[in-house]
Amino acid sequence: RSGVVGFLGLGVMGREMARNLAQAGYTVRAFDIVSSAGDALRPFGIEIVSDIPSAVRDADIVISMLPDTPQVEEIVSGLQGLLSVPPRGKLYVDMSTIAPEATRRLSQALQAIGVTMLDAPVSGGPIGAKNGTLTIMVGGDADGFERATPYLRAMGTTLNHVGASGAGQTVKLCNQLICGINIQAICEALALARAWDINLPQMREVLLGGSAASWMLDKLGPAMIEGDTSAGFRIDLMMKDLRLVLEAAQKHPVPLPATALVASQYQNAQAYGEGANGNQALFKVYDRLTGQ
Ligand code: NAD
Repeated sequence: RSGVVGFLGLGVMGREMARNLAQAGYTVRAFDIVSSAGDALRPFGIEIVSDIPSAVRDADIVISMLPDTPQVEEIVSGLQGLLSVPPRGKLYVDMSTIAPEATRRLSQALQAIGVTMLDAPVSGGPIGAKNGTLTIMVGGDADGFERATPYLRAMGTTLNHVGASGAGQTVKLCNQLICGINIQAICEALALARAWDINLPQMREVLLGGSAASWMLDKLGPAMIEGDTSAGFRIDLMMKDLRLVLEAAQKHPVPLPATALVASQYQNAQAYGEGANGNQALFKVYDRLTGQ
C-alpha cells in the first residue's frame, strides 16, 4: 500500500496501531513527547521524528492516539499544531477518547483551513490494537470517512461511520459506561464468591458459559482473580472516560446513577494508588472493603 501516515502518540495502544499501519505497507512517521516511546518501532521501518511538524507536514493522513482532550487540543492548536502546519493530505483522524464537544470545536477550526477531522475512538484494548482487530466508531464527514477507511482497516476489523463530528466519541463514551459498570459487577460477584469460599477460576468458566458472560469477565477476569494489576487499560484512563461520560450527561441532562457510583469506586482505587494499574485493579477496592 502507498500513503504516508503521520502518527502522534506511541503509548500502549498507539505503538501497536502504528506498527500495524507499517506492516500493511504504509510509510509511517511517528512522534511522541517521550522520545524513547518509539524505540521498539524502528525495526518495523517506522521513522521516529522529534517534533510534530516533521511527522505531519508530508502526511496523507495524520492519526493521533493521545491520553485526553488537552493533548489533542495541543496537537491541533499548539504552536506546532495542525492549524499551523496542516498535513499535505488535509485529513486528520483522532483515535483517542476525548470530549465530544471539544472534538466538534477542533473539527470546525480545522475545517476553516480546509482540513477534515474525524473522531475515530476504538474499543478492543491492547490485545485488539496488537492484533489489528479494534472496533472503530467514526464521527465526521462521509467523504473523510471514505478516504480514511483503508488506513483504519489496517488497525481494526469492525469499522462504522456513526454520524457527524463528535458522534464517534459519544458512542465510545456509551461503550465505556457499559464496560465500567460491567467491571464493577464482576468485582461484586468475585467478592461475594470469595467470601463464600467458591473456586473463582471455576466460577469464571461457568459464568462464561451462561448469560453473565462478557468481554470483561473473559479478558480481565483471570488478572482480577490472580491479583495481577499490570497495566493494559489504566484505571486513570477509565476514570477520565467516566468523567467525560458524566460531563456529557450533565449537558442534556441524563441521569446516570450506576455510572456515578462506579466513578466513585474508580476514585477509591485512585486514592489508594492504583491509578497507573490496569482496570482489573478495581477489585483491589474489594480487598480492602472485605479485609481480604
Ligand atoms: P498511553 O498513556 O499509554 O499513551 C499515550 C501516549 O501519548 C504516551 O506515550 C504519551 O507520551 C503520548 N503523548 C502525550 N501527550 C503527547 C503530545 N502532546 N504529543 C505527542 N505524544 C503525546 O495511553 P493509551 O492506553 O495508549 O490510550 C490512548 C487513548 O486511547 C486514550 O484516550 C485512551 O482512553 C484510549 N483507549 C485506550 C485503550 C486501552 O486499553 N489502553 C483502549 C481503548 C481506547
